[in-house]
Order: sequence, then structure tokens, then C-alpha cells
Amino acid sequence: MLWNVDGVRITRVVEHVMPFAVDFFAEATPAHVAAEPWLVPDFVDSRGWYLMSFHTFVIEAGGRCIVVDTCTGNSKDRPLIPEFDHQRRPFLADLAAAGFVPESVDMVVCTHLHVDHVGWNTCLEDGRWIPTFPRARYLFGAADIDHWSNSEDPLHASAFADSVQPVIDAGLVEPVVADTSLTAEVRIRTSPGHTPGHLSVWIGDSCVITGDVVHHPIQLRYPEWTASGDLDPDAARATRRELLAAAASTNALVLGTHFAGTSAGRVLLTEDGYRFAPETAG
Ligand SMILES: [Zn+2]
Repeated sequence: MLWNVDGVRITRVVEHVMPFAVDFFAEATPAHVAAEPWLVPDFVDSRGWYLMSFHTFVIEAGGRCIVVDTCTGNSKDRPLIPEFDHQRRPFLADLAAAGFVPESVDMVVCTHLHVDHVGWNTCLEDGRWIPTFPRARYLFGAADIDHWSNSEDPLHASAFADSVQPVIDAGLVEPVVADTSLTAEVRIRTSPGHTPGHLSVWIGDSCVITGDVVHHPIQLRYPEWTASGDLDPDAARATRRELLAAAASTNALVLGTHFAGTSAGRVLLTEDGYRFAPETAG
């Protein structure tokens, strides 16, 4: 998938898609999902489970190549999630086939430091985790570095150890403390709630890469729903409402970090709340 927004090219490279049960959102019931038949087949499967995509967006702007989120990675020890555990996926070959060899990447933005957003930061070579993108500056929310470097959560502590600490040790990380422009067009904005140092990426006011501010298109119908993993649900709700209102007000192209299908659409504000209008590439 490829989009052009205000002279900026954005390419999606998918690592994998997997289904999640309805209770991924604590407030959701099968009836809620069944009441949104437009979600099938791109966003909900025939059993009524959410389809979640794990993909990278590559932004080409101002002569820079920026990778946003690095999925789950290969060879990682993740016994708690079989779909993430010691995988052998062709993601780097797919990224290269899309035109992006690791050496061509100037920046890596991890919207946050959860296990499914940091995986390809590193690769295993001769028993050591080394940075996958050797020329890149890696931008992580400073509050996420603080939080996850002190976490005892077994899943995310191991992700920090094998996919974050090695790039810190290599001197490649720039902690992000506030909204920051990466090029004339591309700006990262702090969007806390899901995690304390969460970041979203905007192309002017014309396009937003959500990160995990929104996990699934059904959350446009139910912005109050909390996702599994929202560390501060109230802050996450407030940030989600702010992002959706901003995207609706400028008719921005929304690129969902876990949206399956084309991953893209617009936020429409109706008398009955928000609607998601999926969009193909272009
Ligand atoms: Zn995620």
C-alpha cells in the first residue's frame, strides 16, 4: 500500500495479521461487533473476532526515510504470546522489496515501547542483538524509556532488553520529550495514555499515523472503550477523543497502526458520533 500526502510518500509493509477476541476491549460484547456489519471482512473475521495488523509505515519526506514502528521481530523470546515467539517472518525482505534496505533508513520512530512496536529495532547476529537500521536515529518517548526500563512486566521487560536497550547502548536513541518536527512536513506529537510516552505522527494536518491511540476502527463508534494494555485509561480516552476530533476537523487521512484492510480512512463526525470511512491507497 502506498499513499501520497502533500508530496510525502507513505508505504505500508505488513509483518502479519492476527485475530483477537471481542474482550480485547473490556466494554465490548459480541452484540456490539455484530451491530457494525461494515467491519466484515476487512476489520472483523467471520467469527466476529477483531483482525489486527502488525505493520510498519515508511515515510519519505524532505529526502529523509522514516520508519514508524517495527512490529514484533524475528527470533525474539516471547513465550507468553506464541504468535510473537521465535518467529521467522520475511519482513526485512518485504521492506527491501518495497525499496527500503536497512541502510537507507534515516530515522526510526517507535510510537511506544510495547512488544509489538519495537521488534525489528534489532536483529540477532552471532548471539547478540544489534541495531537493524545502522544509520538511523531511533526516536522513543522519554517517558516510555523511563517507564519500561523500570518495568517488571515479563513481556515488556524482555522486549526492552532485546529490542530497546541494544539501540540505547549503541548510542542511536534520541528521547522525545515534546512535540518535535522531523522534516518540514512530518511532526511527532506526544499522545499519552496507552503508555506515558506515546507518540503519534502527523503529516501537516493532512494525515495521522495513530499508534495505539486507536487500535481498531470499532473504537471510532466507541471512543470510550479501553484497550487491553491502556496503562492510563482516562488519559487514553482523552487523547483518543482529541486525535479523532483533530482528524475529523481537517478530514485527515487516518493510518491505523493496527488497522487491517487498507489500514486507511477518514473520520466522519455525524449526529450519531464518529464513523470510519475506509479508503484505498492513492
Ligand atoms: Zn500495539
